[in-house]
Amino acid sequence: MNKRQVYLDNAATTPMRSEVLEAMLPYFNEEYGNASTLYHLADGAKKALQAARDTMAGILGCDSSEIYFTGCGTESDNWALKGIADAYRDKGRHIITTKIEHHAVLHTCKWLEQHGAEVTYLDVDETGMISLAGLEAAIRPDTILISVMFANNEIGTIEPVRQIGEIARRHGVLFHTDAVQAFGQVPISVDEYRIDMLSASAHKLNGPKGVGLLYVRKGVKLHSFMHGGGQERGRRAGTENVAGIAGFARAASLAAAEMQERIRRESELRNYLITRVLREIPYSRLNGSRRSRLPGNANFSFQFADGETMLIMLDMEGICASSGSACTTGQTEPSHVLTAIGLPEELARGSLRLTLGCETTREEIDYTVDKLKEIVGKLQRMSPLYERIAGPAGPRGSARGGARGRELR
Ligand code: PLP
Repeated sequence: MNKRQVYLDNAATTPMRSEVLEAMLPYFNEEYGNASTLYHLADGAKKALQAARDTMAGILGCDSSEIYFTGCGTESDNWALKGIADAYRDKGRHIITTKIEHHAVLHTCKWLEQHGAEVTYLDVDETGMISLAGLEAAIRPDTILISVMFANNEIGTIEPVRQIGEIARRHGVLFHTDAVQAFGQVPISVDEYRIDMLSASAHKLNGPKGVGLLYVRKGVKLHSFMHGGGQERGRRAGTENVAGIAGFARAASLAAAEMQERIRRESELRNYLITRVLREIPYSRLNGSRRSRLPGNANFSFQFADGETMLIMLDMEGICASSGSACTTGQTEPSHVLTAIGLPEELARGSLRLTLGCETTREEIDYTVDKLKEIVGKLQRMSPLYERIAGPAGPRGSARGGARGRELR
C-alpha cells in the first residue's frame, strides 16, 4: 500500500487547522454550560457565541444580529428557501434558481414544487455562468426569491453576484446565495453585493463539520425551519453547538486574515496545474470559467477515460480527488452541472475535479500530474475509440488535430 497521501479534494471537505481545534477544546469540558441558562457557568459559552457572531458579522460586513448559526450548509439552504416560500406565500410562489446549484438547493426546490411553489431553473453557458438578461426575463410579478450560488462546487465558476443582487433589488425580489464554496475563499460583502441571505459552512474552510450559518438581512421575514426552544433569537431552535461555532469563527477569521495571500498562492498553483495538464495530457479540456473561478478549483475532462476508474487509480497512488459523476443506486450518473454546461455524456463521465487547499504544495501538483498522465494514458490506450481516432501510435502519430488540451474563457 502506498504511504503517500496527496489531498486534492478540498471542495468536499478540508482538514481542520490546529488553531481551530484549540479554539474549540474549552467548550467540551470546561465551558460546557448551556448558553440559554442564567448561571455564571454558562458565561463562557454565551461570550463565545457572541464573539463568533461578531467575527462573522465583521467578515460579511453586516450586523451580528443578522447571523444565525445552523447545523450545516444544507440546513442553511433548506431554511432560506423553505422559510421564504412559507413567509411570502401571500406575495407569490415563484422562485428562480439555476440548473447548477448544489442538491441542497435543487432538492429543496423540488420539494417546494410538490408543495405549491413554481420554480424556474436558469440555464448556464458553457463556462457555467448564468445570463443576467435571462435572469431578468424570468422575473414575474409573483417572484419572491432568486437563489443563485456564489461559486459552483464542481467547476468553480464564480457567478456575477453583484449584478444579480442589483437586478433582484431593482425588482423588489429577495436574493439568497449559497456561498458554501466561496465563504473564506474570496471576499464577500453582503451590502456591496446586495445579498439578503447567505449560506456558509465551516468544514469547507478548515473548520469543523456540522456547523453552518445563515445570514439574514434585517427586515427579511423568514419563518423558522427548526421549531423548539428560543435559541438564535427564536428563529433557529436547538442548543447551540458552542465548540463548533467557536471553531467556525476561528477558521473564518484565519481565512479572512490570510485570504489575499492564499488567493495569490492557490491561483498560481492551480494555473500551473491547468497548464501542465492541458499541455501534457492529450484530449484533455478544462471545465468552467478561466477568468471567474475559485482560486483552488481545477476541473478537467479527459476523452476516452472514465472518471470513476481514474479516481480509483489515483487513490492507489495516494491521491484524493473527485469525479463529476455521482453513484446513486449502483448506476453512475453524469453530474447535473457538467450536463448543464453542455458536456456530452462521454466527457462528463471522463471528468476529474482537483481542489487545492492551504496545505497543497507545488511538489504535490507535480506528483499528481505525473501520475495522472500515466493513468489517463493507460485508460485512453485501452479505449477502442481512442485507437480509431488517434491511431495505434497515439495522438502524436495521429493525422487528426485536437489532441492538445483546450480551455474555456
Ligand atoms: N452548497 C454547496 C455549494 C456545497 O458545496 C455544499 C457541500 O458540498 C453544500 C451546500 C452543503 O454543505 P454541508 O456539507 O455543510 O451541508
